[in-house]
Amino acid sequence: MRKILIAGCEQEISSFNPQSSRYEDFDILRGKALFAAHAGADTCIRGALDVLGVRNDLELVPVYAASACSAGPLAQADFERLAGEFLTAIADAMTPDVAGVYLSLHGAMGATGERDPEGYLLQRTRAIVGPQIPIVISMDLHGLLTARMLENCDAIAVYHTYPHNDFTSTGQRAARLLEAILDRGARPVMARIIIPALVRGPELITATGLYGKVIDRAKAMETGGEALSAAVLIGNPFTDAPELGSQSLVITDNDPQQARRLALELADAFWAGHDRMLAELEDLPAAIADAATQPGPVTFTDAADAPSSGASGDSNTILAALLAASYRGRAIMPIVDAPAAARAHAAGVGARLRLSLGGTIDPVRFPPLELEVEVERLGDGEYVHEVSRLPAHAGPTAVLRHGDIRIVVISHAVFMMDRAIFLAHGLDPEQADIIVVKSPGAAMRYFTFARRNYVLDIPGATSANLKSLGHLVCPRPMFPLDDDVVFTPKPELYPSASRATP
Ligand SMILES: [Zn+2]
Repeated sequence: MRKILIAGCEQEISSFNPQSSRYEDFDILRGKALFAAHAGADTCIRGALDVLGVRNDLELVPVYAASACSAGPLAQADFERLAGEFLTAIADAMTPDVAGVYLSLHGAMGATGERDPEGYLLQRTRAIVGPQIPIVISMDLHGLLTARMLENCDAIAVYHTYPHNDFTSTGQRAARLLEAILDRGARPVMARIIIPALVRGPELITATGLYGKVIDRAKAMETGGEALSAAVLIGNPFTDAPELGSQSLVITDNDPQQARRLALELADAFWAGHDRMLAELEDLPAAIADAATQPGPVTFTDAADAPSSGASGDSNTILAALLAASYRGRAIMPIVDAPAAARAHAAGVGARLRLSLGGTIDPVRFPPLELEVEVERLGDGEYVHEVSRLPAHAGPTAVLRHGDIRIVVISHAVFMMDRAIFLAHGLDPEQADIIVVKSPGAAMRYFTFARRNYVLDIPGATSANLKSLGHLVCPRPMFPLDDDVVFTPKPELYPSASRATP
């Protein structure tokens, strides 16, 4: 029976997080455990299994899947170990009856010595499976699609939603691309156009914003049969890499002119609204003063220090400002600080001590802050995220109290999108006046009881104030890093041979 190899490698990084991520940060699944983990989950691999798993003429082979929480760039030796395992698993699974390969990628990985990890994995996978076996991938719209990736795969399905809620359906679309090639002999031609813009802010919410209108047209190209696949990727502005930027991508069945024309249409539509796709950020002292005059709870969005976007999670900026303002309300906030958690565990519940909080990873942005605290509660950091139902491994944790401010200190960065980090530590967000949420979009989705959300202009490795980050590698000029950026569309076609096709 013909076999389809299924594998994945996913992480999103911020180049501006000074702490490297490590091999040990990855959850790695092989064999039956890989399919078992994804069968009931909301993931791209699950979507591919939904479509391909019901066929009795294909055997699906679970090869290797690695995924990690967003973080700083992956240490090079650790990337090489991970890539070595991935590629060895592909080579070991390669037999004469393999008919296709599906890879679930993110697109915004980065290693300290390899700025295009997904391109490397695809190039090496292509070398192993040879030129004839179709390779189809799925990607996050925050991914950085590179020329090397385009040269080494046959077709791509990209998320259509932000905040993301189409993991499974994107995997299904990727699987249908593979079916089009295998069953109908489709010959995908990919056109992409690089757009010199990094975007943030509410207009990116696809259900309501300008970006969603452009994506709607891409979806219509797919459902109406104009294209096999269509997307507008916005990249991850925190992954500072040579091909960072936004881009349109359209894949047709052997029709390069149509692919080029539709990619131009999407790129032009996106560029027309790009200068409205900026975050509106508020001044922190003004937000504290405003919050103090009204009943809570309100949320303080600290997207600049969002572990889900790759930040270090050790920002104490809001804490320092609350102390400076002599804020008297009830505030709750998380912080990554392994030494402080260890000291709290050594001191025990009920102990009062003076310790340093924050800046253990990024002391340049977050000077460590000394304060008196009482240890209210200790924990092991093992709990379940509220929305994804996936386990969190936060390491030793402590709830520290300073006046009416309660700080959930954790040892390892975890996603901080929903209420779980508070509820798991005995804190009810609805009873707080200020809730610090270290995620760009979570306050609006999971803290809907809050009376107001302040999105703050404060430092961090994932600040929406993109000019504050210090990009060194990405192409310039780039909106909004530079003024008066001009967009001159230059369609690129893949595979390269199709460039000669009339
Ligand atoms: Zn994303």
